[in-house]
Amino acid sequence: MAIVSCPFCGKKISSKSSSCQSCGNSISDIDPIAQQRLARDLRLKKSMQINNLAMASIVLFLGSFLVFYFRHPDSGTWQQTVMYAAMGLGGFGYVAAKVMMVWFKRQ
Ligand SMILES: [Zn+2]
Repeated sequence: MAIVSCPFCGKKISSKSSSCQSCGNSISDIDPIAQQRLARDLRLKKSMQINNLAMASIVLFLGSFLVFYFRHPDSGTWQQTVMYAAMGLGGFGYVAAKVMMVWFKRQ
C-alpha cells in the first residue's frame, strides 16, 4: 500500500482506496493519464496561489512604502502605525510565500 495524492483535492490517501475520504471523489474509475493530468492541474493551481500571495505582498509592501515615503506621516500617529503594519505584513507575506514555494517544490 502506498500513499498517493488525491488528484482532485491533493490530500494524502491510500493507493488501494477507491475513493477519497476527504473530498469523496471516486478515484478507481478515472484512468491513470487523467489522474496525472488532474494532479498536474492541482499542482499548477497551488503554485499560482503561492505566486499570487507573493505578488500581493510585494504590492502591499511597495504601496505602503511609497505612501510612507511621499506622505511622510508624523511619528506617533495612527497613519504611521498603519504604514508600518502594512509594510510588515507585506514583508512577512513575501517571505512566507517564498518559504511555501520552497516547501511546495520539495513535494
Ligand atoms: Zn480528494
